[in-house]
Amino acid sequence: MEKMIIGIDIGGTKIAGGLVNPKGKLLKAVTVPTEAAGGFDKSLGQVMALIEQLISQGGGRDRIRGIGICAPGPLNPHTGLVINPPNLPGWKNVQLTKRVENRFKLPARLENDGNAAGLAEVLFGAATAYHDIFYTTVSTGVGTGIIINKKVYHGKNGVAGEGGHVSIDYHSPYRCGCGTLGCIEALAAGPAMVRRARVKLEQEHTLPSLLRERTQNHLSRITPEMIEAAAKAGDAVAKFIIEETGFFLGVWLASMISVLDPEAIVIGGGVSRIGKPLFDKIRETIPLYTINRRFAKHTPLLAAKLRKNVGVFGAASLFLQEGERAEKN
Ligand SMILES: [Zn+2]
Repeated sequence: MEKMIIGIDIGGTKIAGGLVNPKGKLLKAVTVPTEAAGGFDKSLGQVMALIEQLISQGGGRDRIRGIGICAPGPLNPHTGLVINPPNLPGWKNVQLTKRVENRFKLPARLENDGNAAGLAEVLFGAATAYHDIFYTTVSTGVGTGIIINKKVYHGKNGVAGEGGHVSIDYHSPYRCGCGTLGCIEALAAGPAMVRRARVKLEQEHTLPSLLRERTQNHLSRITPEMIEAAAKAGDAVAKFIIEETGFFLGVWLASMISVLDPEAIVIGGGVSRIGKPLFDKIRETIPLYTINRRFAKHTPLLAAKLRKNVGVFGAASLFLQEGERAEKN
């Protein structure tokens, strides 16, 4: 009988877990809010309890092939070490896979969330027809993953694929959380869109906009969803912000194409759900900023398919990379 994989997605606000079969079907899913304020022992306890629950729902240890875990970086996928994710207080140099393996006597693997999501898109999401892709998720940050021959590319120290911290503007006024100026994350993620909208409305303080009306001119209340809705309603400022976001992403992805020449690019995350106006601008911009214009124009730009539970799929996919599918179950 085919064994199942447990996928665990540890985040600062929620911990999600699920049972996934080798074909990538999610059979059970559980989510709990992360008790991050309770510190390391509390949140690690939640992770362990979730795994325990899923093992029992899956029919016991003998029915489970392994436990895949994805967490926010920085982490080391080679050694299973969680280094010090900013949104998980108390998690400092945690030998996570060792702890999980010792406790459950099952193999465990660890990956950062961007890499895991990219892998899942290639194995059972939007990019199953491809082997080599560049994956990005644009939401509160910009996560990325480089997938080569249906495997995650890790680099020497396991930290490759931090595309969100590639700067496209070294004299940008916007400093990224990582300390660098003009990272794509500091320019195009949800909070960056909000910031650009606010700055524009503050600078051009007579410019009418739905964003002003809908926040009673309390510009700090603008959200990415509000920008999307205002653009749909025809608001010029909101449309400009979305076009500018598409332009920044286009410049950045053009560089990724120059470096990687991927078969396809997959874009996920909340910001990507803006859809056509954003994707159109990205497509229009890409050929203008790469040496490989002729090819770049034809690089498919795909919307991510795995939305809900993407982290669980990503974590489970760590046991389904190329070369492992044929493994005896
Ligand atoms: Zn950065």
